[in-house]
Amino acid sequence: RKSVIRITTGSQSLDELLGGGIETSAITEAFGEFRSGKTQLAHTLCVSTQLPTNMRGGNGKVAYIDTEGTFRPDRIIPIAERFGMDPAAVLDNIVYARAYTYEHQYNLLLGLAAKMSGEQFRLLIVDSVIALFRVDFTGRGELAERQQKLAQMLSRLTKIAEEFNVAVYMTNQVIADPGGGVFISDPKKPAGGHVLAHAATIRLMFRKGKGEQRVCKVFDAPNLPEAEHVFQITPGGIAD
Ligand code: ADP
Ligand code: MG
Repeated sequence: RKSVIRITTGSQSLDELLGGGIETSAITEAFGEFRSGKTQLAHTLCVSTQLPTNMRGGNGKVAYIDTEGTFRPDRIIPIAERFGMDPAAVLDNIVYARAYTYEHQYNLLLGLAAKMSGEQFRLLIVDSVIALFRVDFTGRGELAERQQKLAQMLSRLTKIAEEFNVAVYMTNQVIADPGGGVFISDPKKPAGGHVLAHAATIRLMFRKGKGEQRVCKVFDAPNLPEAEHVFQITPGGIAD
């Protein structure tokens, strides 16, 4: 692998849990219930990735694929200010795209890969990675096709991560009511099945704690112990 960079999450304890921050050349999956902080961490990483490497940033641009319409440019402003950065400059370095179908999502990845060969990107966010697959493949009979298309998308993400030394941060909302029995909240049988679990280098499970507190637990990381830590969601982004 190319020289791996670790990008701060904004929380010291979360960084420690991750061995220094989220890794380039790797895929980090955040899964967890609604409002557990997955998208807030995405916003924080949009800013911290642009910090110089001696400030635990990635000194690079950010690509953001949004399938749920939950990116808030206004949210970037106080986070940039917290890190002592110019909000307008930070926003300029976020290449944002809204995806409406899984095919659109895949084509956006192809376009971004072309862009990344010309400019230094250090983070690719896909929030969320499988929401559109849930919409576009509804029937049980379509499960095999869905898993095949999902695998194709994930292999593309792996390729981008490794080729451009980019940190891929993808989110996966776990649905409490399984309905068809495919999407269940057992972390050992994650939504998207084993296809998704195997693609991720590291998997983080988020859940709500008291008030604005959130809890993050590391799963399936080859070099890290399975531990958990508390973090907070603040106006300035993720913090201790
Ligand atoms: P998920 O993507 O996991 O569904 P989010 O990352 O969107 O969840 O987290 C939503 C939560 O973030 C809200 O419930 C709120 O607690 C917190 N939050 C959002 N914006 C702010 C803010 N400006 N200041 C503090 N907390 C915030
Ligand atoms: Mg979200």
